[in-house]
Formats: sequence, C-alpha cells, structure tokens
Amino acid sequence: DTVGASLDRAVAAWPDREALVDVPSGRRWTYAQFGADVEELAQALVAGGVTKGDRVGIWAVNCPEWVLVQYATARVGAIMVNINPAYRTHEAEYVLGQAGISLLFASVSHRTSDYRAMVEQVRGRCPELREVVYIGDPSWEALLRRGSAGAPYERLSCDDPINIQYTSGTTGFPKGATLSHHNILNNGYFVGELIAYTEQDRICIPVPFYHCFGMVMGNLAATSHGACMVIPAPSFDPKATLEAVQQERCTSLYGVPTMFIAELNLPDFATYDLSTLRTGIMAGSSCPVEVMKRVVAEMHMEEVAICYGMTETSPVSLQTRRDDDMEHRTETVGRVLPHLEVKVVDPATGSTQPRGTAGELCTRGYSVMLGYWNEPEKTAEAVDAGRWMHTGDLAVMREDGYVEIVGRIKDMIIRGGENIYPREIEEFLYAHPGIRDVQVVGVPHEKYGEEVLACVIPRDPAAPPTLEDLRAFCRDRLAHYKIPSRLRILDSFPMTVSGKVRKVELREKYGL
Ligand code: ATP
Ligand code: MG
Repeated sequence: DTVGASLDRAVAAWPDREALVDVPSGRRWTYAQFGADVEELAQALVAGGVTKGDRVGIWAVNCPEWVLVQYATARVGAIMVNINPAYRTHEAEYVLGQAGISLLFASVSHRTSDYRAMVEQVRGRCPELREVVYIGDPSWEALLRRGSAGAPYERLSCDDPINIQYTSGTTGFPKGATLSHHNILNNGYFVGELIAYTEQDRICIPVPFYHCFGMVMGNLAATSHGACMVIPAPSFDPKATLEAVQQERCTSLYGVPTMFIAELNLPDFATYDLSTLRTGIMAGSSCPVEVMKRVVAEMHMEEVAICYGMTETSPVSLQTRRDDDMEHRTETVGRVLPHLEVKVVDPATGSTQPRGTAGELCTRGYSVMLGYWNEPEKTAEAVDAGRWMHTGDLAVMREDGYVEIVGRIKDMIIRGGENIYPREIEEFLYAHPGIRDVQVVGVPHEKYGEEVLACVIPRDPAAPPTLEDLRAFCRDRLAHYKIPSRLRILDSFPMTVSGKVRKVELREKYGL
C-alpha cells in the first residue's frame, strides 16, 4: 500500500478525531482537516512542477508543516529527503548536492540556527535547487496559492522510493538510506499494532521528525491507527514535554533514554500529572535499569515498549510486547516483529551462532532499505546477496527468542586480548551514588592496545567521584581488566540530534 492510500483510509474512518496538535502554537487538526491540508499542499507541489521521483528536502525542526510535507510528498510520489536540523552549511550543502534536491522546505530559524541565512549562503552552489519555501513565511502561503484542486497524481507503486533518511551519524558520516512506501508504512503499522494503538491514543512526540523514530514510529504508527500526534516543542525540551503530556492527556510518550533521564531529573517532576500515560517507546540506545523502573513506576508507562532498530531497516526490527516483564524490558530489546527475520552470526565466518552466543545481528524482510542513495558500494557492504542487513551491532539471542544488545562492534574495547563491552560497565557504574550519567570508551594504550576510560557526569558537580572511588566501587565485583583505569569528569556528552552519545567524539577528545 502507499502512504497516501493509508492516510485516505484514516480520513474516511476517523474524520472527526484529532490527528495533530501543535502545543507551542495551539494549532489543531482533525483527520478531515489534516487530509484536506495534505491534499492542498500536494496539489501545490504538482502545480509547482514536482513529479514522482523528484527530491524534496526538509530542513526543519518539529512543526505541523513537517508532517504535512511528509504526507504531501508521499501523495505526489516525490522522494522526501530529511535533513538533520543540527546540520550547518557544510553538511547541508553535501546533502542538497548528494540527493539532488530541487525543492527545499526549511524552518526560518530556531534558537541559534538561522536556517534562512544558511540556505542563502549555500544556495548558489547547489545548481539543482530551484526553489526554497520557508515554513511560517509568506513563501509558504505563496506556494499554496499555486495549487488548483483536482490535478491528477502519477500512478504510484508501493515499492517506489519515497524517502531518503540519513542515519544518526553516531559512528561517522551519516548515510542516506532510501526507503519505500512499503518499507516505512508497514513498519509504522506493526510498531503501532504491538502497542495496540487505537483512535483513542494520543502520542507525545518529542523526538525529531527528521529521524525515523519521529516520522515512522511516531507519525506513521499514529495515522495508520487513527491516533493523534502531539508536538510538545520544536526541539527537545523536558519541561515542555511533560507539560504537553499533562495538557493534552497523552497516553503514549516517546524518547531515547537520555530524554527520559532529563524529564525524571526535573526539579518539579513530581508536580506533573502524567496519569493518562499507559505506554510509549524507548529506543535508540540501551536504557539503564534504574531509569526503566522509574519510567514504569513514576511515569505510569506500564506497557512501555523497547524498540531496537536502525534507519536502514525503516527502522524497527525487534520490540518488547505489552505484557513483557521488567526483566525482558531491561535486559533485552524484545523479539522480532511480524514478517521479519533476525539472526546472529559469527562476524568472522558468517555462520549462525548458537543461542546464547554473541555475534553480529542481521535482519531481513520487508523493512530492509532499497539501498544507500547513489552509493552502491556502501549498500553492498551493508546488505548481502541474501538481502540480510548487517547491523554492525553485537547481540545475543536467548532461548526464548528475545535478543540482548551487547553493544556496537565499533565500540567494543579490546584490552590485552580481552573483549570488553562498555554497556556492562556503564550499567554497573550507573548504580554509583555519585554518578548521574556515565559513558565508557576504549582509548589507546601502549601495552594493552586499549584501556578503559570512564566519562562521568557527577550528581554533584562540586564533589565529583575520583578515579580511586570508582576503582574501589568496582573492586571484587568486576573482573580487573574491566575496571576503568582512567576517568574524565564532564558536564555533558557530545550528542546526535536523535539523542545518542557520540562515543567516537569522546574517544577522539579524551583518548590522548
Ligand atoms: P550511524 O549509522 O550514522 O553511525 P546510528 O547507527 O546511530 O548512526 P541510527 O540508524 O539512528 O543511526 O541508529 C541505529 C543504531 O542505534 C543501531 O545500529 C544500534 O546501535 C542503536 N540502537 C537502536 N535501538 C537500540 C536499543 N533499543 N538498544 C541499544 N541500541 C540501540
Ligand atoms: Mg548505523
């Protein structure tokens, strides 16, 4: 099926239910109004000469227009290219050129980002870029006025590409995963099915739309079930998020672990009424057990789902189920989604590992991307001849089919021949009373090849723990080679916009 057809069904089934709420501006859409506004924008695109296969960029923070552009481009069959709102001119110019974007939608500005100034700077160097429309600016209205109702759309197939989504850039330069209607619509639908979304649900989406977490697990999961998308703020703000949950009586809340940590750490956390929440999704990186316990107990998200995925697989391939226990929610990322396959292989030989043995996680099925845009060599490295996507993540499949993520192959520390998984040490140190947050990375060492560096955000910045404190805390409880031999006290970690810690940067900065 196509995204457009799926939206038509939602409009027909739930015309009067709320589809979209923008809390900062107070604007609201029912499904009928949302469908009409998507149609109006799609018609304007056709009138402006946008046709099937054209690349339409969106470089914007979260706002209702982002969602309208997502569905309008899908209806026309254009390929929407998500551009990370944290990008600066160098990166934006790369994407505009690499994807051959002819029409660009952009925010005017947000916080320290002056998108208009940046666009105007690079525009002259992007020969294919014909037109720029700024959101919340007269150029948006001017575009809409061009449309004349009733122009026909081109015939679309569900295997047509509709999206180029760049990966988070956690481990290096982002890659443009090209995804079809079939890829992302099915993925959004099944993620929503496992959570049991209905038209009664209201989903608070503080994660960026530019990333599949927002636009697939959020928007497509919502519209395929008649649920409402609630935008708490243009970019993540813990206070605005909890205020939106309370004001809009949200039933579901999304985030990466660091977002939930920020919300739980608000000084006035206890004053928010979050009792309408029943579920949500935590994904993107592993979650400390302590955090998960508080999310369930204090945020009322008894049915919270853990999802594992990657941009290249639309994104989700593993998910916990509504009635899973705490142990499965904290130790595993769930089990495979319907109609997908996963396996764990020995990275050296490619043969499938026995259950309980770590190896590289591979996934296969409808969700695997068409390829990296214009990068056949990189595609061939990631997707093998049997259509298995090699994730680059180390995992263990349990007897019961649930999968534990051990870490990224690239983050594994090899110290004197011993394999060390940072996650295990992070989990352990997280219980230290003086530690608010911790990241463990391998840094070069003359004798051992690598050694263990702990980067710590202390609970009390005036009295941070010392290396001796940490070592004493670990002694007799962790094998000696896993005990950090170096410590850095920091007040924040370098993050991607999708909320992941850039360990590469920690290694580069503090590894000397
Ligand atoms: P890049 O590929 O550009 O380095 P990235 O891999 O972080 O960045 P994404 O596609 O946003 O880009 O993220 C996918 C990765 O996130 C997975 O490969 C995995 O390492 C990690 N991940 C996702 N979900 C989870 C989870 N629930 N638990 C642990 N890790 C997760
Ligand atoms: Mg990746």
